[in-house]
Amino acid sequence: MAPAKLNLAVDITGQYPDGAFQWQMVSTTLNLFDYVRIKVRDDQQIIVSANQSYVPAGKRNLAFQAARLLQQKYQVAKGAEIDIEKHIPVAAGLGGGSSDAAAVLRGLNQLWHLQLSKQTLVDLALDLDEDVPFCIWSQVAEVRGRGNEVIPVANNLTFYVVVVKPDFPVSTRKLMRQVTLENLGPRPDHQLVINGLTQNNYDQVVAGMGNVLEAVTARQYPEILRLKQKLLQFGADGAAMSGSGPTVYGLCASESRAKHVLNSMRGFCQEVYLCQPYYLAE
Ligand code: ATP
Repeated sequence: MAPAKLNLAVDITGQYPDGAFQWQMVSTTLNLFDYVRIKVRDDQQIIVSANQSYVPAGKRNLAFQAARLLQQKYQVAKGAEIDIEKHIPVAAGLGGGSSDAAAVLRGLNQLWHLQLSKQTLVDLALDLDEDVPFCIWSQVAEVRGRGNEVIPVANNLTFYVVVVKPDFPVSTRKLMRQVTLENLGPRPDHQLVINGLTQNNYDQVVAGMGNVLEAVTARQYPEILRLKQKLLQFGADGAAMSGSGPTVYGLCASESRAKHVLNSMRGFCQEVYLCQPYYLAE
């Protein structure tokens, strides 16, 4: 199972000499899943198929790249047939491709009997995409550095997430090319979010949430701000964009409020989901 990723806080604290950004994020996985089914092959072929025509098959699929990376690095004599049943919206800021890739790394680690530790998988994952290390953990976590420092945040806080996916895609790669340290939006308080999670204080999570990339994406796609405004207007306690967008979400403390917000948002956007944080079992 490959859960979607949602960012409660996205901040950039600096830039490495090679130009990569230094991230400071709090992310969670949601109960919105792709299903990744893997069969071992006796030859070394890796075959990827998906139930959506707009998901690339073959080498351009992150799931393929994950399998190939593992196979080459550990000189595995077997191959794999990977079938992806896609439910996570694509190019949405919900980390779908990264989550599929992480599911393949976890799955093939077992099926190919590699016995690699989680940290080894996390280190490998960074070669694929900066969201894949988090997706190896797939639970609420602080994510730092290049995306490779994943620190799980143990918590029991219950809340509901109304996920709103506008009907246009945003290419993370293209969007990130426009991001500079100067054009970032208001910074979230990631420590407040973490404190809220660990101390069961929902209001602190809401007060601390936010995404510095929102201002950059919204300049090109102002619809994002309109949808955020609607979420708040219909009763969400807080709203923000996930990843580099375009998905925006609202947080609600109660299921009944979340259902009301969800139904109200249906008038403005076709793709809306009611989710909760999800914790992948060890
Ligand atoms: P992120 O939150 O990590 O930025 P995203 O939600 O913006 O991710 P994805 O859904 O992961 O973006 O897809 C981004 C692009 O990656 C797609 O346009 C698609 O061409 C490519 N891609 C490669 N592998 C996959 C996959 N398994 N599922 C979906 N898209 C994939």
